[in-house]
Amino acid sequence: MRILVTGGCGFIGSALVLHLVQERGHDVLTLDALTYAANPLSLQPLRDDPRHRFAEADICDSERVNALFEEFQPQAVMHLAAESHVDRSITGPAAFIRTNVVGTQVMLEAARAHSTRLSDGAKQAFRFLHISTDEVYGSLPPGGFFTEESRYDPRSPYSASKAASDHLARAWHETYGLPVLVTNCSNNYGPRHFPEKLIPLMILNALEGKPLPVYGDGQNERDWIHVEDHARGLVAVLEGGRIGETYLLGGRAVRSNLEVVKTLCAIFDRLRPEAGPHERLITFVTDRPGHDRRYAIDPGKAERELGWRPTRSFEQALEDTVRWYLDNKDWWQPIREGRYTGERLGLTG
Ligand code: NAD
Repeated sequence: MRILVTGGCGFIGSALVLHLVQERGHDVLTLDALTYAANPLSLQPLRDDPRHRFAEADICDSERVNALFEEFQPQAVMHLAAESHVDRSITGPAAFIRTNVVGTQVMLEAARAHSTRLSDGAKQAFRFLHISTDEVYGSLPPGGFFTEESRYDPRSPYSASKAASDHLARAWHETYGLPVLVTNCSNNYGPRHFPEKLIPLMILNALEGKPLPVYGDGQNERDWIHVEDHARGLVAVLEGGRIGETYLLGGRAVRSNLEVVKTLCAIFDRLRPEAGPHERLITFVTDRPGHDRRYAIDPGKAERELGWRPTRSFEQALEDTVRWYLDNKDWWQPIREGRYTGERLGLTG
């Protein structure tokens, strides 16, 4: 299958593109604007692979996007390109509205124009998978879980812009019959994660003996999914999901931020006992405004309908992630030498 993936040089996009090409044998066009969050090194394993092509393009540039549809003739679109960091959305929301809202509208329109030119058979098979976040549902009470029926209640500029994009995707299905699927996923972790986000920031700070900044009291809870489990889930939805439906993907691993940081400290104590104990590096910092207390996903619908389930154990996969950062200094060192050691860049939403 020919699949157009937007945002394929980012964290989840690169895991997905590697999975689609190397594990599933698909032809992929990666469309990415190469913002600060992209790392072209992530797709280096595909450099000489004829099944993969890359186009540096902005999803808001409708002329360029339409030309790429014309040229590549995708049989499916997996739309991940987005501004993704909650803290950045608080200090500079405009970029989030532009890329996440306007960019999604451009992608939907280009897909609609493309699908009208397809033969009946190809039109039947065409799919547009819009990839989103559980943050659109806002904050849960203690012990609660999001389902596909949860009410939208976004509370940060990031989650509000993603909520808008979800509504646009569904509207293009209802209004124009575009074969749209939507996924909302919990917090991802794993290799090739930009080090402004909680887990890679803590790993690199621990490695360098720097403070481990934890927002507020550290009791905010997130549901962690390994990025490769997410990539498999996205393929399961693309292949088996019912058009017009939403599927929630989560890792069944709800942990407080403080638990995550303490687990990382224990891993570092085992791997580098000479530098321990690492918990002494934990520093509590002023909380993020509007910081949602709990996100947790009930992934039952995807599990029942698609036979997909998250397979990675959080503690083991977290240790594998630490080892990946220890072994792949070339990937993160140039980023690290830039701007991303600040004590307020603590948590992702
Ligand atoms: P990321 O920030 O790591 O990567 C985003 C990618 O999109 C980058 O490669 C960037 O260059 C590209 N991009 C940004 N603006 C663009 C534009 N205007 N045109 C073309 N490309 C552009 O993000 P991620 O963590 O990989 O998230 C991918 C998607 O998954 C996003 O839509 C995000 O909302 C969603 N999501 C993320 C998580 C998570 O935990 N990271 C959880 C659930 C859902």
